[in-house]
Amino acid sequence: MADAAIVGSGPNGLAAAVTLARAGLRVEVYEAADTIGGGLRTQPLFDADIAHDICSAVHPMAPVSRFFRAFGLAARGVELLTPEVSYAHPLDGGRAALAHRDLAATCAGLGPDGERWRRLMAPLLRHSEGLVDFVLSGQRALPRDPVAPLLLASRILVHGTRLGAARFTGEAAPALLAGVAAHAVGKLPSLAGGAVAALLGHLAHGPGWPLPRGGSARIAEAMADDITAHGGTFHTGRPIGDLAELAGGARAVLLDTGVPGLLDIAGRRLPDRYVRALRRFRYGPAAAKADFLVSEPIPWADPAVGRAGTVHLGGGHAELARQETLTARGVRSREPFVLLVDPAVTDPGRARPGRRPVWAYAHVPNGDDTDPVELIRSRIETYAPGFGDTVLAARGLSGRDLEAYDPNDVGGDIGSGAMTLWQSLARPVPRLDPYRTPLPGLFLCSSATPPGPGVHGMCGYLAALSALRHRFGVRTAPSLAPAS
Ligand SMILES: Cc1cc2nc3c(=O)[nH]c(=O)nc-3n(C[C@H](O)[C@H](O)[C@H](O)COP(=O)(O)OP(=O)(O)OC[C@H]3O[C@@H](n4cnc5c(N)ncnc54)[C@H](O)[C@@H]3O)c2cc1C
Repeated sequence: MADAAIVGSGPNGLAAAVTLARAGLRVEVYEAADTIGGGLRTQPLFDADIAHDICSAVHPMAPVSRFFRAFGLAARGVELLTPEVSYAHPLDGGRAALAHRDLAATCAGLGPDGERWRRLMAPLLRHSEGLVDFVLSGQRALPRDPVAPLLLASRILVHGTRLGAARFTGEAAPALLAGVAAHAVGKLPSLAGGAVAALLGHLAHGPGWPLPRGGSARIAEAMADDITAHGGTFHTGRPIGDLAELAGGARAVLLDTGVPGLLDIAGRRLPDRYVRALRRFRYGPAAAKADFLVSEPIPWADPAVGRAGTVHLGGGHAELARQETLTARGVRSREPFVLLVDPAVTDPGRARPGRRPVWAYAHVPNGDDTDPVELIRSRIETYAPGFGDTVLAARGLSGRDLEAYDPNDVGGDIGSGAMTLWQSLARPVPRLDPYRTPLPGLFLCSSATPPGPGVHGMCGYLAALSALRHRFGVRTAPSLAPAS
């Protein structure tokens, strides 16, 4: 009989399973799809030897999150490859702004705004570990570095509001910052966007924005190996519709599902007040994804863009903010924000002669069901004339298709719930322990809990610690370190 059952095997379900298995519990993981991994899957789409990341591709939070620091990806053979240019932002007129890992090199490229960029990022870098731990902690404990929240608050108040762009005189610096803030997927400027810009923005100049050699699935495989090595078992092709389907009476059930999944699986057993609060949970705009197989590197108008691990396509700061705000209001833009990764720039082993993958998604209104391939192709073409001629094959996933692929992405919202400042703290409802539901033994461990979306494993880890404390009387976090 299992001690703990976990429904869903995304990075948070796996992080929960790792933590519970390392605490000596018998763990069973149930996954609806035929393969494990959730947002960490890499597979061929058009050509047997070119692998595409279906969801996540780039991992700024994996090297720095408390869970992965303890888990030790490198010691388990997961090589995080970090490009020297973390991200690029093409601008009109064939120019581009670049965020190098080297802060001084970035500032040198920003002209008169270089010194302002340094003053924005350098203090965050000095307090990076405290800042990351604070943002990714769920904010229920006192920060170990008391300066970190103050620095974060000052950045949010300036760069999460209209004051932010006025701080700069040129075009490049505000565009770079807006591109990072847009990872919050919502209207801009916004306080949540300001927080994301501070977190991801400073990481670009420190540990960088790496890609795992061979693709994102390598992270899921390392986690699954650890779970199996500690006695855990996986059941794939097992969509769970009700708690009663989990045989064996596990003392703790952790759901790596979205809020609708929680309501489907356990709703009739949950108190009305909690259910009503869950129904108030809001969703943000969708991602619409395109995967391309191309014959050659992207012909960027500014060739320097071709050195970047990640590329933001959205025009200048004002244009990007306008498009993001329209998308958040449900208007389908013809020039949406697009996030692009050409994995072979960082990991040349992902390409073969004359064939390489390109990963991109556009922000579109929640629930959008239009195939995005043409939209994204023309967006890339704007900054890389001739791109269309290099495309050998393409596949689009609309927001609705993404939800069909993974029910946690409600309406295509890849954050499993809108990332407003309030919802980043009070996910899925305002509670001191947001992982614990009112039903004894039932926990939510997905990115619908704090700290929210991204591959950091912290939702699963914190939910598992809550389960250990409340169901098994274990108050000490287990060691997650690899066997030496
Ligand atoms: C297109 C796209 C691009 C992204 N890019 C990045 C990126 O580059 N970097 C980054 O850090 N993050 C990225 N993300 C976000 C990241 O993938 C997610 O935040 C992360 O995967 C959330 O992890 P999770 O474990 O909470 O849920 P998920 O990864 O969504 O996993 C949930 C799993 O649970 C399963 N499941 C759900 N309901 C049931 C059920 N009832 N029964 C059984 N199984 C169930 C699902 O099939 C799925 O496998 C991206 C997401 C998408 C979709």
